[in-house]
Amino acid sequence: MELLTQAPRGTQDVLPQEAAAWQAVERVMRSEAELHGFGEVRTPVFEHTELFQRGVGDTTDIVQKEMYTFLDKGGRSVTLRPEGTAGAARAMLEHGVFNGGLPVKFYYFTSCYRYEKAQKGRLREFHQFGVELYGSGDPLSDAEVILLGHSLFERFGVKGVRLEINSIGCPACRAKYFETLKAYFGSHREELCGTCLDRLERNPMRILDCKNESCGKVAAEAPKMIDFLCGDCRAHFDHVKALLDAAGVAYTVNPSIVRGLDYYTRTVFEFLAEIDGKELAVCAGGRYDGLVEELGGQHTPALGFGLGMERLLLLLQAQGVELPGVEPCEVFLGYLGGAAKAAAFRLCTELWKSGVHAMCDVNGRGLKAQMKYADKLGAAYSLVLGDDELEQGKAELKNMKTGEKKKISLGDRFLDDYLTVVTEQEDLSF
Ligand code: ATP
Ligand code: MG
Repeated sequence: MELLTQAPRGTQDVLPQEAAAWQAVERVMRSEAELHGFGEVRTPVFEHTELFQRGVGDTTDIVQKEMYTFLDKGGRSVTLRPEGTAGAARAMLEHGVFNGGLPVKFYYFTSCYRYEKAQKGRLREFHQFGVELYGSGDPLSDAEVILLGHSLFERFGVKGVRLEINSIGCPACRAKYFETLKAYFGSHREELCGTCLDRLERNPMRILDCKNESCGKVAAEAPKMIDFLCGDCRAHFDHVKALLDAAGVAYTVNPSIVRGLDYYTRTVFEFLAEIDGKELAVCAGGRYDGLVEELGGQHTPALGFGLGMERLLLLLQAQGVELPGVEPCEVFLGYLGGAAKAAAFRLCTELWKSGVHAMCDVNGRGLKAQMKYADKLGAAYSLVLGDDELEQGKAELKNMKTGEKKKISLGDRFLDDYLTVVTEQEDLSF
């Protein structure tokens, strides 16, 4: 049999067993975010292209190389979202959310689309959990967001995640730095890639983030923004560090982190971990005080992070962190004959209504095949109905592990009897 086609390169299917792990991870994230007062937002998968050109920045790798952009049938340029922040900020502005009490906090789970060279931990469709805090420029907010990221890794029990932070200043202190940086890269023109030569004129800081090896070598020796911070930015950074120290969270200052997005200001950070022998950012974020204005709103300081779900799951898997799988079937109802089939389905319906994970055969197979299927499902109990059982109004509930059998009523007392037996036996197993 030849299949018509396969999933596109750089995409992944998530099947039930793995989806259960995703759900477990998402539950922890939701509860941690909601504990801090973040509310969920859901925004469109595609947006007008100009949103990302402005909101992510047209000198970034994302906008210059990685976006899935196309004309829709109305001739309008739309783009599959490459990240979550621009869409969230657009939605908040559109709904006047910033006119209410500030700060406001949001979280999201989104799929993101980037045309990248697909490899382990680098996909073309991937997923992010993100948080966004709008309306506070205070270092306490920086600390809260970083600590939230940190607490997630703690709750998952992953080891070896390192936190690196930096400050990339504000437009005022960056102006002087840009001049110095331009002069530096200008004297290394012949070592830069074509994209970086363009960046040299428009935003030399972007060169620091280039993945090209030759550019990377030049960037490593480049002057650092951290040495050019103005008084306010330095004080802000010192305060953030002091708050992390006070919370007992270890970090290193890495003057080379600049982040891939144009709208970042001041604090930037990454949580890094080794995945398959390669150091990758699992969670990355920072402050983007200029974003809301860039999108036409009033000055609204903001910050947040994006956490790569696939990278986190790879990490959890590599470290053998146990995550719940699919809940197995609790009780399987088998039958012999047409009348018993109808009764099994009716009892199944009763069980479903009271929240019991029950199943019965729907394929009209022989009893032996039905029970084989029950084993495959991992059913904890089974109940077999035949003419005798229907006549007596009773059947044996069998514990599939111990083989123990108990008669239960199939009439009005069915649910009560069922729950009594299951509860008793569960108690015994502790
Ligand atoms: P990288 O430097 O690895 O390319 P980035 O700076 O482009 O990452 P961000 O835009 O900050 O990443 O996205 C936030 C997080 O989303 C990353 O830290 C990472 O965990 C995840 N991520 C980014 N790109 C991908 C991808 N192509 N596949 C899987 N996860 C990704
Ligand atoms: Mg990238």
